[in-house]
Amino acid sequence: MKQKIQVTKVQQSRIAEVDFDNIPFGRVFSDHMFVADYRDGEWQDYRIVPFGDFTMHPASMALHYGQAIFEGMKASKSNDGDPWLMRPEMHAARINRSAERMMMPAFPEDVFVEALHALIDLDAAWIPPQEGSALYVRPYMFATDEFIGVKPSESYKFVIFTGPVGPYYAKPVRLKVEQHFVRAVPGGTGEAKAAGNYAGSLLPAHLAQKEGYDQVVWMGGPDMKEIQEVGTMNIFFVIDGTVVTPATDGAILHGITRDSFLKILAEKGIPVEARRLTIDEVVAAYKAGKLEEAFGAGTAAVVSHVAEIAYGDLHMELPPVEDRKIGIMLKDYIDGLRSGRVEDTHNWIVPVKSPALV
Ligand SMILES: *Cc1c(COP(=O)(O)O)cnc(C)c1O
Repeated sequence: MKQKIQVTKVQQSRIAEVDFDNIPFGRVFSDHMFVADYRDGEWQDYRIVPFGDFTMHPASMALHYGQAIFEGMKASKSNDGDPWLMRPEMHAARINRSAERMMMPAFPEDVFVEALHALIDLDAAWIPPQEGSALYVRPYMFATDEFIGVKPSESYKFVIFTGPVGPYYAKPVRLKVEQHFVRAVPGGTGEAKAAGNYAGSLLPAHLAQKEGYDQVVWMGGPDMKEIQEVGTMNIFFVIDGTVVTPATDGAILHGITRDSFLKILAEKGIPVEARRLTIDEVVAAYKAGKLEEAFGAGTAAVVSHVAEIAYGDLHMELPPVEDRKIGIMLKDYIDGLRSGRVEDTHNWIVPVKSPALV
């Protein structure tokens, strides 16, 4: 790393204002943030500063042409109180795959990881101690050129901020198979964690919610029969003892939770397949009494159990959560890794070190 990270600490921490037993998701932010600027063809001014507002030019290109990408990850505390991260290098690599697709500059992966260590070390007191709770970490990048016209921006900001989140007791979700709107197609931007993808998902989700569902199942393929994802999570099904998730086909986000689940299942000798999966196959399994589980997989909830899937007029009710083995095992495994209760045989857990700072 060529340049060190300059640190300006807050004069007075805000941590005393936080009720750690009752943390609203996504609304509480820790004391510091990491910021870097891209200009003249390179990343510069690596710094940690008090969390606070940016000023923004009205013509900032991110606001008009959507060069904006993000990551989402969690830092947690071991039972001994040591802060650690899970698979941080995967997030560093993925933000750069998103950057490449959106014609944005790569951010040095060593600086990404170093900045995480520095920021989380500094705000370690903000990591809630209870198993299942965590410090949510939001790295993101956006275009800052002050210019009207469609072209890649020549300047960008890269930021990481964090905020504590409580245990996520997601109640089982009711899903609608979306047959009109699409989230992504192969060759589109669905593999990037690009801001615009989420804007495009809001109307279909809103319409599904008006019909009484929680989220939509995104479909693709020439006849809208191929299952992609659920909401902003990857999706898994358990059919007759085999775990099946759609193969990444160019339209599906490469979830890190998804990747961890595939490896955990294989290691435990549980039959698991990443392949093309159609709604017809799920319907056939349901009618044969072989649709045992369905769940979403993502960093925020880890596992989000599916209670019901509606496909047109067909309402498929899934077995009660108490009867499910795979989804419960996977969530317990990840929560246990994060607290140190489960042995880290994959070297996914990275203890936070306090790096040399200026
Ligand atoms: C972030 C995200 C996921 C889950 O990825 P994780 O790395 O497991 O958090 C899945 N689908 C979409 C659309 C996402 O944005």
